[in-house]
Order: sequence, then C-alpha cells, then structure tokens
Amino acid sequence: AEDGDDVPADPSTGPTRPPPIRYISPAALNLHHVYEQNRQRLQKKDGAKVPDPTTPQTKGKPRLLLMGQRRSGKSSISSVVFHKLPPSETLFLESTARIQKDSLNSFMEFQVWDFPGQIDIFDNPNFTFDMDAIFGEIGALIWVIDAQDDYLEAVARLNSTILHLQRSYPHINIEVFIHKVDGLSDDYRLDIQRDVTIRIQDELSDQGVENAPVNFHLTSIYNHSIFEAFSKVIQKLIPRLGQLEAMLTNLCRTCRFEKAYLFDVNTKIYIATDSTPEDMASYEICSDYVDVIIDFTEVYGSWSRSDQWRERLEGEPWAQPLDEQVACEWAESGMVLADARRPIMLREVDRFLALVAIMKEGSYEKMPQINMNIDVVVKGLTEFFEITKPKEVVGGPQGLASPGLVQE
Ligand code: GDP
Repeated sequence: AEDGDDVPADPSTGPTRPPPIRYISPAALNLHHVYEQNRQRLQKKDGAKVPDPTTPQTKGKPRLLLMGQRRSGKSSISSVVFHKLPPSETLFLESTARIQKDSLNSFMEFQVWDFPGQIDIFDNPNFTFDMDAIFGEIGALIWVIDAQDDYLEAVARLNSTILHLQRSYPHINIEVFIHKVDGLSDDYRLDIQRDVTIRIQDELSDQGVENAPVNFHLTSIYNHSIFEAFSKVIQKLIPRLGQLEAMLTNLCRTCRFEKAYLFDVNTKIYIATDSTPEDMASYEICSDYVDVIIDFTEVYGSWSRSDQWRERLEGEPWAQPLDEQVACEWAESGMVLADARRPIMLREVDRFLALVAIMKEGSYEKMPQINMNIDVVVKGLTEFFEITKPKEVVGGPQGLASPGLVQE
C-alpha cells in the first residue's frame, strides 16, 4: 500500500481504515435540505448535471473530495481537521493509497473522500471508475499540492482533472490547497501561489475554458491556515450564507462586538462570520477558545448546564428534540483576554454549532442586553438550520437577518 500503485478500491465499498466515530442523532441539524435547495437552484440556473443526492448511493450527504499526489498531505489534513490528530503525529500516518470514504462528525455530515491523485481516473486501462459516483454529488474538489516538493506533475494532473470536470460537472468548486507552506518564507509562498495560478490559468485558457471556479489557498496543518481554508470551502456550499452573515453583522453592530463567528465545534471550521474584514488573529483566538472550552468540558463535564457537549464528547446520543434543547439549556462561557482586556464569549447553538464573539473592553457591564441579543440570534440561527419546517421561519430572509435586537 506504500506506493499506492495497487488497484484502487471501488469507491462504493466503503472505508478501508478503521471507521471514525460516527454520531448520528435524530436531533442533528438537517442541512441536507439546504443542500437539496442548492442542488435544485443550480440545476435550474444553468441546467448543470446535479444528481439527486437522495439516491441510496449518495444518501444526501454533501461530499468534499480530497485529491492530490501521494504524500501531498491528504490523510494528514483530514486527520488533523476532522479527527483532531496532533499535526506531529501525521508523520506516522500511512499515505493514501486507495480511495477512502470518511463520514464526519460535523454539523453538515460531510463526507470527505481521500483520493490518491496518482491514479488517473479519467484514463485508467485497469479500472473503470463510475464518474457519477465520484463526482456526481460533490460540492467541492480539494486538490492538495505539496509546495515543498516538485509540483509540476501535480499541476498537470490537476489541469487535466479540471478540464474533464468542466465538461460534465461544471458546478463543482475546485479548491487548490498549496500545502505544507509552513517551512517556506512569505515571499516564496506567494511566488509559488503565483506560479501555480498562472500555470493553471494558462492551460485552461489554451483549452478555451474561461471562468472555471478555481480558488487557491496557502495551507499547513501546523497552524490555523488549514482550518481557515476549509471554512472558506465549506461556506461556499451553504446556500443563503448571506443571511447568516447578516445575522452576525447585526449582532456585532448592536452589541458592539469586534468579531463574531459561528463555529462547527468538532472541526473548528467557521460556518459564517460578520462582514468586518477578515482577521486571522481573531479567528485564532476564537478557535483556541473553542478548544479550551472543549477541554474544560471534558475534564469538568458537569460544569456545562446542559451537559450536551460532555455527552457529545463521550459519544452518547443526544436524543432530545431540537425544540426542547434550545428552549431549556445550553452551554455558555466567557473570559477576558489578558492582553487587550477584551472579553470573549461563547454560546452553544446546538450540539455542533457555537457562537463565539470577541467583545470590546467594558462590554461586561452590558451583559444583560448582550445576552438578550444573543438569545435572539441563537433563535434565528436555530430557525435558519431547522429546515425541516421551512414554513415556520417567520419574516423571510429580511426577518431572519434582522431579528429584534436590542441596541446596546
Ligand atoms: P497523502 O499520501 O496525501 O495522504 O499524504 P500524508 O497525509 O500521508 O502526508 C505525507 C507527509 O506529509 C507526512 O509525513 C505528513 O506529516 C506531512 N505533512 C502533511 N501536511 C503537512 C504540512 O502542512 N506541513 C508539513 N511540513 N508536513 C506535512
């Protein structure tokens, strides 16, 4: 399996390594419906071939496909982001040698398919791939390029993949992770990014393909950049993201928050943030704070009023209906950052999602109003994701984006 030249596994045969912890509960947020709305919208918009995700084959789960050359870092990325493996331990991971399917314990129940890039799936004399099964339902193809290695072959493979996909599945976002940039200087990173971008764009325009949805991210598992990149990838798959952002922007405006994020707690991917400019430092603070709370909850499980997060960590299904969860109990926390005296707060939205915000100095005195506003936004978020009952979302898009917040 080391060099990955064996006959690849059939994608339909399921995982080939020990399955990750599965956690499926009836109360899980049902974002498949959001995904289905997006699918129908795409189909209507440009007649693209977007198969029905509810077929037994795909079971309605949005799918991310992780591809790239052997040793580019695919297994490491999915282990670090989705299974909390410390980056240094990826040194001992087995390289991706066959197609691996990984269902995630995340708010969206994504599937990540770790796909060895050295297999030419479009022209393989030994094996015929079911292209619809591989690409039919994916929202984004993440192509990992090792920036510390000679990447010409990887770029050539990527180019031919994009060209094939453009013909049959033009709706798929192509996200290029220029990976392992931790060992490189800032200038060198940008040079590589420029070089890869030009090589791809030139090839595409030579082939007459304009405006292909290709995006580039500089990533490393040794810092937050990999989480940030995944956040960007996933946000593009959320229809009506603008409404979520508007909710957070309103919250920041009325409560004078510096920055607010909606986190998927298990992966530390942020699903949405407010409209103020991106700020890696704020994301890092909030993301580390989520880690602290998770660790704290692990040790002092009963500290959380609802015990939801402790139960999640221990793998106990949370069987209560969503309405009851939200109505009665939640986990919340706050602390003051020693450096800038800015308080930071966290509020659980459901067992996958948490609202985390950096407040301004002195905000603690205004906590009663702030809490009222957070209650309203949490309710709005719950309605946003509770799409099993879309008719009950009152006020339509405007109503949700501007819930009745109290001005601070
Ligand atoms: P795969 O074959 O694409 O699945 O690659 P692996 O995940 O097995 O990774 C190959 C090697 O790259 C491992 O030794 C990892 O520790 C290393 N690696 C992965 N990501 C990074 C990164 O961001 N920075 C550095 N420096 N090494 C990485």
